[in-house]
Amino acid sequence: MILAAALIFCSGAYAQQAKNVIVLIGDGTGLTQLYSAYEANNNFLNIYTMPHTALSVTKCYERRVTDSGAGGTAIACGQKTYYRAIGVDKDSLAIPSMLEIFKSQGKKTGIIVSCDLNHATPGSFIAHVKDRDMYEEIAEFYLTDNCDIFLGGGKKRFDSRKDGRNLINEIKSHGYEIVYNKQQLLNTKTDKIAGFFAENHLPLYKERGDIMQTALKTTIDKFKDNKEGFFIMLEGSQIDMEAHSNHFPEMIDEALDFDACVGIALDFARKDKNTLVVITADHETGGLTLPVAGVDMDTCKWTTTGHTAAPIIIYAEGPGSENFHGVIQNNKQFDIIMDAANRRKK
Ligand SMILES: [Zn+2]
Repeated sequence: MILAAALIFCSGAYAQQAKNVIVLIGDGTGLTQLYSAYEANNNFLNIYTMPHTALSVTKCYERRVTDSGAGGTAIACGQKTYYRAIGVDKDSLAIPSMLEIFKSQGKKTGIIVSCDLNHATPGSFIAHVKDRDMYEEIAEFYLTDNCDIFLGGGKKRFDSRKDGRNLINEIKSHGYEIVYNKQQLLNTKTDKIAGFFAENHLPLYKERGDIMQTALKTTIDKFKDNKEGFFIMLEGSQIDMEAHSNHFPEMIDEALDFDACVGIALDFARKDKNTLVVITADHETGGLTLPVAGVDMDTCKWTTTGHTAAPIIIYAEGPGSENFHGVIQNNKQFDIIMDAANRRKK
């Protein structure tokens, strides 16, 4: 009997509570975007090795087709809100994000994006403003110290501002190490880091290389010994942008870079066994269909340059991941994640 119990324990049974949470958001990434990447990558995706899935209905408070503001806020804060809202409810009142809650519980927190750090998805986790275009206001929320490591683009919103403030100097005075490229990131000594890798969005994968993967690996490494655990949100921001442009090969490059980041998260989580990994999306972009076998420019069909109402797939692994199943509303994933992280405290 003792042997049997030991076998069960060693066979990968998860601890009850998710000490660490890694949420990876593929902006605009629906079923067909990922399936195209799978085909282009010799029928393999790290994401497709994850055991639990659910469908997420992405509509926002007042529209069938959401934007990344309302979509990001539903994931980050657990409420459906109006189109373009950032971290506020349908009445424009601030609602706490999971990043803020986790920070208040003693976790280390990180945001890693390939877009402007003040864009809608990262904004939904750090800021509370009534419209997604309030980029400079969103930047000011990084001065709350709620995010220990933030890495992405959007430098100009911090140091070339209408109000003349230099937020990078202010962030530095809060004790952050400031870095501008991958090498400087690799040389950092602390676990409080602000990385500005571009004036606006980062360049495409072909030009920027594996900086997203390095950013995630470095951040996990710096956070992994924190007693209360960590929370990281990484966004593959440019899957959406290339889908808007109906650029099939570039969209696939972005999706595969995103999947490589997922592989890094899973490598850590499978050793750690106390980490919930959730792959999600805010909405589908491009209405991508795959009418003919094979992967090239001619064998896919985009049906729009905008977003669609098509539900997206959530993939999950680790403690609490078994609660992702069936068809759920997009804001429900907040509850499932918070529940997994706070089980012991119930
Ligand atoms: Zn979009």
